[in-house]
Amino acid sequence: MPWHVRRSPESPLEPAGDDHKARAGRLAHEGHGMKATLTVLGSGTSMGVPTLGCDCAVCYSSDPHDRRTRPSIMLEYAGKVVLIDTTPDFYAQAIRERITRVDAVFYTHTHADHILGIDDLRPLSYRHKPGKLPLYARPDAAAFLRKMFSYIFDANYKFGGLAQLELRPIDGPVEVFGARFEPVRLIHGETEIYGFRFGSAAYLTDHSEIPDASFHQLEGLDILFLDALRHKPHPTHSTVANSLRIVERVKAKRAFFTHICHDLPHEATNASLPPHVRLSYDGLRLEFEI
Ligand SMILES: [Zn+2]
Ligand SMILES: [Zn+2]
Ligand SMILES: [Zn+2]
Repeated sequence: MPWHVRRSPESPLEPAGDDHKARAGRLAHEGHGMKATLTVLGSGTSMGVPTLGCDCAVCYSSDPHDRRTRPSIMLEYAGKVVLIDTTPDFYAQAIRERITRVDAVFYTHTHADHILGIDDLRPLSYRHKPGKLPLYARPDAAAFLRKMFSYIFDANYKFGGLAQLELRPIDGPVEVFGARFEPVRLIHGETEIYGFRFGSAAYLTDHSEIPDASFHQLEGLDILFLDALRHKPHPTHSTVANSLRIVERVKAKRAFFTHICHDLPHEATNASLPPHVRLSYDGLRLEFEI
């Protein structure tokens, strides 16, 4: 894949093994106890399931859980709507979930399957006029988005009709509508990307490895989303077995796998997992505290 962000040389987040900072981080996670809803907009891998041109059993499955659009979630709290990533399927996801407003977007990284729905934010961005809809991303990802979508961010275009979007680079925790969003550094093949911790939940997609330094941010989770592409190892993604080990290590109350490819039939795979671990699916809704 040609679209990726480079690993940044310095990590401004808390280092591992610093008990004081880890404790402070834990306290911060306890948040304000606002009620929130998490909706899975898409649970599929970059090519989606069914995968074009494939005639396997999962791609031809009649189980609606086996239809997986590209990976993204929606958070609703305090009357606001926050997205993580805007996939090439965002338009269809927004119609399906009757999304009528978006107040902020967080980007995990700049692979095509996580950003290409950006233009479909257009009608939803207009409610922010004369302001703009804020997009939060790592500094290198924000720079990439600005270049990739220069027609949106280029102020010289005078004929209207453009998405009203504003990039906000972040390299640490940020408070958005009263909730704290904390970037969780993940390794995705040869690049470093962000997952996010918010209240009692975390969303970690597209990781081949979670660095030791990131684990203290994953304590006390009610809900943990993890990449689990398939059983067979992959250079840039986690497997079912590896993600099960992560669930064990962080002792999340409930875990949901995402970025799932057509190797994993929904029902049969769930039957093989422990009861507190499930494959997520498009349209899944969960309540939690943010
Ligand atoms: Zn991806
Ligand atoms: Zn298939
Ligand atoms: Zn990716």
